[in-house]
Amino acid sequence: MKAGRVILIVAVAAIALAPAVLGKFGVSLLNDVGIGALVALGLVMLTGIGGATSFGQAAFVGIGAYATAWLSTAQGLSPWLGLLFALALTGLAALLIGLLTLRLGGHFLPLSTIAWGLSIALLFGNVEALGRHTGLSNIPALNLFGISLLEPRAVYYLIWALVGLAALFCHRVLNSRSGRAIRALRGGGILLASVGADAFRVRLTLFVLAALLAGLAGWLYAHANRFVSPSPFDVRASIEYLLMAVAGGLGHLAGALVGAAAVLAMKNTVQDVLPLVTARGGQFEAVVFAVLFILLLQYARAGVMGGITKWWARRFPSGAGAALAPPAVAPLAQRTLPARGEPVLAVRNVVKRFGGLVAVNDVSFDVRAGEIVGLIGPNGAGKSTLFNLVTATAPLSGGRVEFLGHDITGLPQREVARRGMARTFQHVKLRPQMSLLDNVALGAHARGSAGVLRAGLRLDRAEEARIRQAAWQQLERIGLAERAHELAGSLPLGTQRILEIARALAADPVLLVLDEPAAGLRRKEKQALAELLRRLRGEGVTVLIVEHDMDFVMKLVDRLVVVNFGSKLVEGLPAEVRADARVQAAYLGSAPAEAMA
Ligand code: ADP
Ligand code: MG
Repeated sequence: MKAGRVILIVAVAAIALAPAVLGKFGVSLLNDVGIGALVALGLVMLTGIGGATSFGQAAFVGIGAYATAWLSTAQGLSPWLGLLFALALTGLAALLIGLLTLRLGGHFLPLSTIAWGLSIALLFGNVEALGRHTGLSNIPALNLFGISLLEPRAVYYLIWALVGLAALFCHRVLNSRSGRAIRALRGGGILLASVGADAFRVRLTLFVLAALLAGLAGWLYAHANRFVSPSPFDVRASIEYLLMAVAGGLGHLAGALVGAAAVLAMKNTVQDVLPLVTARGGQFEAVVFAVLFILLLQYARAGVMGGITKWWARRFPSGAGAALAPPAVAPLAQRTLPARGEPVLAVRNVVKRFGGLVAVNDVSFDVRAGEIVGLIGPNGAGKSTLFNLVTATAPLSGGRVEFLGHDITGLPQREVARRGMARTFQHVKLRPQMSLLDNVALGAHARGSAGVLRAGLRLDRAEEARIRQAAWQQLERIGLAERAHELAGSLPLGTQRILEIARALAADPVLLVLDEPAAGLRRKEKQALAELLRRLRGEGVTVLIVEHDMDFVMKLVDRLVVVNFGSKLVEGLPAEVRADARVQAAYLGSAPAEAMA
């Protein structure tokens, strides 16, 4: 059994029984843990898995809390309407903030979260209708089917039921089409675009999801405490939520729960102990927490759950037998491949300038259906740049590119991918912590449509089964099906390259574009790769290979395009190219001598 499952069973039992043995104080504390866990759950998703750090999550808790507080006091409406209002407002706020800030890169994104986190908290303290610094009081307690949830013991089960549902929702999302995209976010926007996904949209959806969880927590907070004021929603509180997620383990949903419990238990202890030591307890609390935070980041980044899963895996190594084929389902729709010899790619007079440097100068060539075409040239010839132009990874400075008879110049990369151009990367871009199957299934992203909501509610199962089957078939094709559930990071480089090709194939492409697939491969691995590519050609897939290794391409391709200094030098059959004096001159000194032998 996996560590996660055991912890789940123990936790559910403990949570169900806790009110029977705990006093009022203990139950209240657990209510706070549940509310904190909801926020931390959003942060595990957003920061831990999606890679976007937020120092402003408490502001969303505040929006949820103030929304329902205002509606149920000033307007006298039902707290259940308050729930809708709270979620609508937090969702809308997150959408707006996300649209404005989520394109920021590097450290600017976390910095911006501090900025809006501060501003929103300031807003609460300065709006008359929200009671300024005194806040809003006399918020009605919740009432469910005529039962008042005024007592901590009564609201306890609602809070924890919601925590359970939220965790289940997130768990399902992570194991879905959207979840694979979310988990691939750390791999960068180009990786996502290469499978037809929009990284910005994925991140925005994730940001809104995390905010909604915080808004839900805020709604519970307002009605459990029956009083709101600005300070529990300031940046200090945000850091506490982040601390929960980090302490529990950013990579695990259960970490949110464990972290919330650990941080609140610690906070209580510190609040009890510090006054005995110093009269300035309140100020020292922040210092103690800051020190703990730094220690955690230095020595235990994986958090409690990271430690537990590692220990568990060592203590009970899973006898990872061969993975079993998923149940057979109706296959995903497939593209009709163009007939052999039809035009697939037409590159026309493309130019790429980097300032004064002309990296690609007026290059034209064609690729026809069912061919393997090699694009070769010495180092610095402009191959990778040309590759980027063809796959729409970089904009052209001139010329145009046609794909399947349509001008694709200026289209976004993900749109070109969706039209059937799949690529691999010179520096392999796999997600090492995802299974082989998930990595390949990511490639089929554009063949499905289920979003976060459908996944969270389990309405995506039929589509998901078809995607997984398609991924499985690609793994079988490359002979790795038995290892489908192993992590991609555990594979040697050569196998990783082949796995990337399987990911590209999962998109059901018309054209496969490979950037230096043989780089870093051993002889045997190169042979296996060439074998695979020949088989693909036999199945009607068209292949464009950008390669430095002449020896590798010579025996494989139907036609060669040679570039040098950014310009096309020669185009022709391998034998012709090999005999061409200009090619030999271009390669002399820059290519291994045996390549020309
Ligand atoms: P190859 O892949 O054939 O080795 P590249 O396409 O990587 O060659 O590079 C072609 C030329 O363009 C080189 O002179 C390289 O320095 C230059 N170049 C490539 N990318 C950039 C860039 N982003 N900015 C400036 N110059 C670049
Ligand atoms: Mg290159």
